[in-house]
Amino acid sequence: MRAAQVSSPGGPFEIVERSIPEPASGTVRIKVQACGVCHSDSLVKEGHMPGIQYPRVPGHEVVGIIDAVGAGVSNWTAGQRVGVGWHGGYCGLCDSCRRGDFFACVTGQITGLTYDGGYADYMIAPQSALALLPDDLSAIEAAPLMCAGITTFNSLRNSGARPGDLVAILGLGGLGHLGVQFAARMGFKTVAIARGQDKEPLARKLGAVHYIDSQAQDPAAELATMGGAKVIIATVTQGEAMSATLGGLAVNGTLMILGAAQSITVSPLVLLTGRRSVKGWYSGTAIDSQDTLNFSALTGVRSMNEVYPLEQANEAYERMMSGKARFRVVITTGQ
Ligand SMILES: [Zn+2]
Ligand SMILES: [Zn+2]
Repeated sequence: MRAAQVSSPGGPFEIVERSIPEPASGTVRIKVQACGVCHSDSLVKEGHMPGIQYPRVPGHEVVGIIDAVGAGVSNWTAGQRVGVGWHGGYCGLCDSCRRGDFFACVTGQITGLTYDGGYADYMIAPQSALALLPDDLSAIEAAPLMCAGITTFNSLRNSGARPGDLVAILGLGGLGHLGVQFAARMGFKTVAIARGQDKEPLARKLGAVHYIDSQAQDPAAELATMGGAKVIIATVTQGEAMSATLGGLAVNGTLMILGAAQSITVSPLVLLTGRRSVKGWYSGTAIDSQDTLNFSALTGVRSMNEVYPLEQANEAYERMMSGKARFRVVITTGQ
């Protein structure tokens, strides 16, 4: 089989031949059809996370078909279409798992980081990392939903906002263009905040009823004139852009942070006078991915993708890192 591996931090993707792996107990082998390229893949590519063992095959927006199951796997069978996301499985035994916080499992398995991911013809995944795909989503459509999709969908549905509430999506990139769609389909009064006037038509097409150009307008003041946002979902990675929205939170409003900014400035007075909060959100586990896929199939939420063959993993990665992709990049194996 072919795999696009990173042999050492900072090195390029090398397309190598490997033998097709056999699934160990509790795991399945997936014949990969598509894999999204995510900014977090740079952790592996550039060696920004300590403890990664090289060579490593990245990829945590994986979609394919189970083609072999290991011992002890009873709920999954060959032929099923599945997806694997960032959350790479959980033990079910540690204190976090026993409390139902599977995302925080002490084993800390991350697809394409602690084990080889989807930039390959085949991969092995623990059964606890599998999401079942609905029939009416193609592999390319589904792949970006496994990280960008679940992160926005799962944060929105756990945000405390109720239908009709004002919800703002900060940023209109890979995550943001999905976040606007999800928020609108969930029945929120959806506001998109991005830089420049040119993104407004797309934002409205995706379901936003208001658009704020953060270069020309003060996002906090604009949100405040609308009554304040119950929730602001921050998909950007600039802390200043997040801080600039805080004053636009309604009473009891929450700024939910999905983007890994270095730091943000928060006024305690803004928080305490309106009982507002700032919290982070972890994408979710396999069943959350499955819910994301089903909701997307049901409501027509789709990622806009640029597609590259596996052999062009370097080009696909550079395109994603350039920030110019509209909006997600997906690698296909042709299988
Ligand atoms: Zn990701
Ligand atoms: Zn655990």
